[in-house]
Amino acid sequence: MAMSTRATAAKAAVDVVGSYFSRMQVVASDPEALVFAFGNPHEMALPGLPAAIQRHAEPLTVDWFAYKSSERSAQEVVASALSGELGLEFDPQDIAMTQGAFGAISLAFALLADAGDEVVIPVPGWFCYAPMLHAADLVPVGVDLAPVTFDLDVDAIARAITARTRIVVVNSPANPTGRVYPRSTWEALSAVLEEASHAQGRRIWLLSDEPYRRIRFDGIEFTSPAAHYPWTVIDYSYGKVLLAPGARLGYLALSPLIPAVEREELRDALFPLGLAIGWGFPDAVMQYSVPELETLSLDMAELTRKRDRMYGALAGAGYEVTRPEGTFYLWGRAPGGDAQAFCDALEERGVYVMPGSLFEQPHHFRISLTATMTMIDRAIPHLLEVAADHDR
Ligand code: PLP
Repeated sequence: MAMSTRATAAKAAVDVVGSYFSRMQVVASDPEALVFAFGNPHEMALPGLPAAIQRHAEPLTVDWFAYKSSERSAQEVVASALSGELGLEFDPQDIAMTQGAFGAISLAFALLADAGDEVVIPVPGWFCYAPMLHAADLVPVGVDLAPVTFDLDVDAIARAITARTRIVVVNSPANPTGRVYPRSTWEALSAVLEEASHAQGRRIWLLSDEPYRRIRFDGIEFTSPAAHYPWTVIDYSYGKVLLAPGARLGYLALSPLIPAVEREELRDALFPLGLAIGWGFPDAVMQYSVPELETLSLDMAELTRKRDRMYGALAGAGYEVTRPEGTFYLWGRAPGGDAQAFCDALEERGVYVMPGSLFEQPHHFRISLTATMTMIDRAIPHLLEVAADHDR
């Protein structure tokens, strides 16, 4: 066998996503196709985004395009924005700029876990956690969210913790369910992790994956678990809120509540480890643009209208759908229960929604609301007709 065992496991864990991604790239080139698969933009870039990047593409110094670590100016803007949003005083030195949340998550795994350690991830949850863990020689331990509500099941997490557990990954607002977890969830989780860390004689870390932090509906409050559990690192991406996932920029932030000695040790490891795992050099121009990027956002009012239109149509037709509180995804149960058959029937009509099998949920599907309102209006009659053809 040419590939390493790790590579084989990682590839197996992501194969279904990889082949779906490749197929959707081909499908998306058909202007008539109604593609609701990935969280990709379907309209021209946000006003202000190209100008923000272009402004910084013109070199002011000879080292403008030199290899960059985290730019101090970007770290300062991020630390100040994070401090305002989360109510904790972040130190700019504790922010590692990365290539999106992907880079930050990889960095967190390298920073906190040893080969063979177990990492708890939510199910359903983002489909890249497991392959990324395999590639890092770590062991994903999926813990089901509560049925129907998709609340975090803190008791189930407690039961899943073993002597090898090193990190628990949480994601709020959550992909694919759109749930935003309340403060009480973090209080309960924090108590479990504190107790389990003492029982196991080993610190269990929390990785709070927050790329959708600013994408919330109806004024729902966001609380980060970092405010409740000191041993937390946070990852973020600008790709979601800017609707520009191909413009790669994000960060990993160490919570200011991590005790000083440990935090300093982690801080010193951020850049060397970034190099070691190959994510080491965040993009120069994207970093210079951070002050402007911080002021830009997708149009939440328009996204809310799209959510309401799609959710209203599906719920009104008897679909079991979770009303998203955040993210730009809509999660539902496939009429008839067989999501693949349901997605195939839609594809025959030129409508592409993501089958839940990508999230280990063969009865569900996900719709990305990054589609345009026109696409939504065109797809709804098909969604209703296909539902009528399937048993509910
Ligand atoms: N975490 C979650 C929950 C995601 O949904 C995604 C992207 O879909 C990421 C992390 C990675 O974000 P990015 O591609 O911006 O690095």
